[in-house]
Amino acid sequence: MKKLIVILFVLLSANVWAQAKFDHVEPMFWWVGMKNPKLQLMVHGKNISGYTAKLDYPGVKLVEVHQVENANYLFIDLEIAPDAQAGKFPITFLENGKKKFDYSYELKTKDNSAGRIQGVTDKDIIYLLMPDRFSNGDVSNDKVKGLREQTLNRDSVYYRHGGDIQGVINHLDYFKELGVTTIWMTPEIENDMPHASYHGYAVTDHYKIDPRYGTNELYKTYVEKAHAKGLKIIKDVVHNHLGSEHWMFRDMPMKDWVNQWPVFTQSSYRDEPVMDPHASAADLKKMVDGWFATTMPDFNERNPYVQNYLTQNHIWWIEYAGIDGLRLDTYPYNEPSYMADWAMKLKAEFPNLSIFGETLVNSVASQAYFTQGNTVNRGFDTHLPGVTDNMMKNAIYEALNSKPGWTEGVFRLYTVVSQDFLYQDPTRNTIFWDNHDMSRFYSLVNEDFAKYKEGMAILLTMRGTPQLYYGTEILMKNFSNPDGLVRFDFPGGWKGDKADKFTAAGRTKQENEAWNFVSKLAHYRESNPALQSGKMIQYVPEDDMYIYFRLATDGGKSVMVILNPEEKVKTLDTSRFAAQLKDAGSLVNVMTGEKLNILKTITIPAKTTLVLELN
Ligand code: CA
Repeated sequence: MKKLIVILFVLLSANVWAQAKFDHVEPMFWWVGMKNPKLQLMVHGKNISGYTAKLDYPGVKLVEVHQVENANYLFIDLEIAPDAQAGKFPITFLENGKKKFDYSYELKTKDNSAGRIQGVTDKDIIYLLMPDRFSNGDVSNDKVKGLREQTLNRDSVYYRHGGDIQGVINHLDYFKELGVTTIWMTPEIENDMPHASYHGYAVTDHYKIDPRYGTNELYKTYVEKAHAKGLKIIKDVVHNHLGSEHWMFRDMPMKDWVNQWPVFTQSSYRDEPVMDPHASAADLKKMVDGWFATTMPDFNERNPYVQNYLTQNHIWWIEYAGIDGLRLDTYPYNEPSYMADWAMKLKAEFPNLSIFGETLVNSVASQAYFTQGNTVNRGFDTHLPGVTDNMMKNAIYEALNSKPGWTEGVFRLYTVVSQDFLYQDPTRNTIFWDNHDMSRFYSLVNEDFAKYKEGMAILLTMRGTPQLYYGTEILMKNFSNPDGLVRFDFPGGWKGDKADKFTAAGRTKQENEAWNFVSKLAHYRESNPALQSGKMIQYVPEDDMYIYFRLATDGGKSVMVILNPEEKVKTLDTSRFAAQLKDAGSLVNVMTGEKLNILKTITIPAKTTLVLELN
């Protein structure tokens, strides 16, 4: 009997030791051959702070083990030599000098194959969608046991609808047909929040695709399949905040992991104090350190552990999946110096990666403030290549909707473009009409189809990288109050939908007209480098018309764009444009194929943007 107990004890202890594992070790694995030799592991598990750690693997040095306020965490600094080989090795955890257990860590080989991490540029057109609302490709993941939100209700704008990554994979040919080149999904990362968790901006696990959208492996497959079709992928990442149900927030490594306030304090959402030389410190603190919402605590990006955690997480996803570009959520709300350091580290690892920040601000100067190439009153360069060009959006809208005045109507658009001198390179900006946070353009122009086409022609011929919001091509509409109203399901994305608007047969006559307009111009843009990266020349508006050229400086054929937003037909005397038109024998209307041989005057129909190719 005694012998049996001893054996049992030995078995049990061995079992305990073998089973001893952490709740989280992040990043779960890493790579050899990275530019930055440093790696900081976050190890999370009940009362682990008493352990020390050691390892013995050629080329990998354990530099330091950090204990922090919370006994459930250790941070382990590693240094990986350039000649270290990929492989698995044990990290041994010790208590009072005695080995307690091993944790097997893996360094993989960095994938440097061509076609990965290509970057997204003005040669591309981005298609933004929300994975919960685009297409349900896998009904088995609509509800996932164990997650906090269990209601699936397509009639409610707040609940989950069941869309997923497989639904997007199923429509890769649709994107090709439409003529867009790049997919940007709102965050696919786990948002295990109790309510309205579908939008993706309240992250609860930085290393896990939300199981309702798929798995990490499926996400990687999605990127690979898109690349195989010649499509690129942008990932939407959130530095500023996390979800209040994140395990890391529920059991924080240290009190200042997030910015703490005596009472709940929300960000002012006002970017001006970030750049304003006259701003009060209190206003700046409220903007940058205030929480985005009660459910979205604000990361303390001055904390070096937080910095390492976020930077490594983004590098991990890019290398893991081969992503082409990042869209940075709520850029002005972040700690500026950290964001600059982050951008330098990301660009060092992935020189081709494209990055643009969400800057829904109120002036061109404010947008330009956040972009790379100047230090202004900040004293350092942000290294942020591009921004979401909100002022261009407002200007296009105003050109179509407001009566021209000294600064109004088409003059606003002209002025905004003229302020491009503020950017190191304005072509890195993402230009758009609308997105998941704002009223849909078709509603903003009172469902005026002529204005829709006028605006679309500007968007797809203007400098920068155009971004379309899903459903724009089929005239989806609504005002963003609440924002769920601009996040309806794409009709046909769910089995049993009344109409399948992914197909011409499922669309109405006018929807097909819209779809064909977008597709034709998008494909034309794809075929003509002048519309991608050709030099832009604009003219001071006269007779309430706005005219610009995209010159064939980078190949292709030069294009003349004429916007006449007025309700009347106009005759344009072309003598002003001799510098660009002098060698042109004729002009071809890109949308209709009509050829104009007499170039002395051009007739511009009412409410039209003419896109004319120079021959
Ligand atoms: Ca699903």
